[in-house]
Amino acid sequence: MADPTAGIESLGDLTGKRVLVRSDLNVPLDGTTIADDGRIRASVPTIRQLSEAGARVVVTAHLGRPKGEPDPAYSLEPVAARLSELLGRPVAFATDTVGASASETVAGLQDGDVALLENVRFNDGETSKDDEVRGAFADQLAQLADAFVSDGFGVVHRKQASVYDVALRLPSAMGGLVAAEVDVLRRLTEEPERPYVVVLGGSKVSDKLGVIDNLIDKADKLLIGGGMVFTFLKAQGHEVGKSLLEADQLDTCTRYLREAADRGVEIVLPTDVVVDTAFPSGDREPQPSVVPASEIPADALGLDIGPESAAAFAAALSDARTVFWNGPMGVFETDAFAGGTRAVAEALTKVDGLSVVGGGDSAAAVRQLGFDEAAFGHISTGGGASLEFLEGKELPGIAVLERG
Ligand code: ADP
Ligand code: MG
Repeated sequence: MADPTAGIESLGDLTGKRVLVRSDLNVPLDGTTIADDGRIRASVPTIRQLSEAGARVVVTAHLGRPKGEPDPAYSLEPVAARLSELLGRPVAFATDTVGASASETVAGLQDGDVALLENVRFNDGETSKDDEVRGAFADQLAQLADAFVSDGFGVVHRKQASVYDVALRLPSAMGGLVAAEVDVLRRLTEEPERPYVVVLGGSKVSDKLGVIDNLIDKADKLLIGGGMVFTFLKAQGHEVGKSLLEADQLDTCTRYLREAADRGVEIVLPTDVVVDTAFPSGDREPQPSVVPASEIPADALGLDIGPESAAAFAAALSDARTVFWNGPMGVFETDAFAGGTRAVAEALTKVDGLSVVGGGDSAAAVRQLGFDEAAFGHISTGGGASLEFLEGKELPGIAVLERG
C-alpha cells in the first residue's frame, strides 16, 4: 500500500515500468498558441523525475471543457510541443486517449521516454457521474500503465476517471506538485504559526462561505474586501448603493460578525471605498472617487477598497506569521480599481513567515500586477481544490491515494 507522503519513491524501482501521470496541463489557448504555460512548467519536475528514474512516462491531462468527444479546438497537441521544449526531449503525442494511437505510442516508448495522450475529456467516461461508466474508462487507462502518479492539483477535488478511479486500479503515489500543495495547505489548517491572518475578497460571499466557516475559528484576523464586502457592510447597517450585494446572505454575514466577536477573531472591513457610477467597460473611461465605507452614494458602486483601507490591511498583515489570501480586493482587471489588490499583494511579499495565495483570479492578479511569484511563500496552482481543502472537504483525488 503506497504511503501518499512518500511520493514517487514509494513505487519502487521504476526502470522500464510504464507510469501514467495525471498532470494539470489546462493552459489558456489562443487558437493553437499557448497564452500562459505556467501549468506546463509546474508539471515538468515530476515528469522529468520519472523519466530520469527510467520509467516510460505516459502523461494524461485535460484541456478546456470539450463535451466528452473529440474536438480539435481542445487538442493537447500544442501542449505536447511545449512540454517537449521544456523537458528538452521529444514527447510522443497519441491522437487518442485509450485507442489504437495510445496503445501504439505507449508500446513504442523506451526507458525514460515521455508520451502525452490526447485530451482525456474527449472521452465521456472521464467525467461521468456513473461509477460504472467512469470505471470502465479507468480500466482502459489503467491498461496503458503499471503504476499511477497523481500530480494534477487543479483536479484532485474531482471524482474523475483519470484522477480517482485509475488510482483504485494501479499502485499509486502523489507527485511532488500535489505533495507540495497538500503540505502547504495542511500548514494553514493544522497549527499555523501566529498571528494567522486570512484575507478574503473576490466577487461573491456565497462562493466563500465554506472557507469562512472553516477558518473563522483558526485565524486571528480576517480582512475582507472585494465584491463580497458589501454584503458585510450592509449587514452592519450601511447603505451600499449599486454595489454587489447578496441579500440572501445578510443573515449569514451578521452571524459571522457575531461569531468572530465571540471568539476574539478580529474582522477588519474597509473604512473607505473606491466607487464609480458604472462597472468598468471598454467604451467608458473609469471615473473613480473615494468615499467613506459608511457613505456610499445611492447611484455608485464600490469597485475597490480605498487607500486608507489598503494601508490598514497592509498594517494588519505586517506582523503576520501565516497568511492565506483568496480573492482580489477590487476589480483589479481595470487599473483604476487595482490599488487595494496591489497593496495586499505587496504586503504579502513582505510577510516574515508563510504567505499563500489561493484562487485562480488571485493568482492571475499577482502575475498581472507584475509581482515576482517567488516573493510569495506559495501560489496554489489549483483554485477550486485549494478552497475545498480549506473548507475541510475531503478531496477524492487525495483520499484515494491515502486509502492506498
Ligand atoms: P478567485 O478566483 O481568486 O477565487 P473570485 O473568482 O472569487 O477570486 O473573484 C475574482 C473577481 O472578483 C475578479 O474578476 C474581480 O474583478 C471581482 N471583484 C473584486 N472586487 C469586486 C467588486 N467590488 N465588485 C465586483 N467584482 C469584484
Ligand atoms: Mg475566480
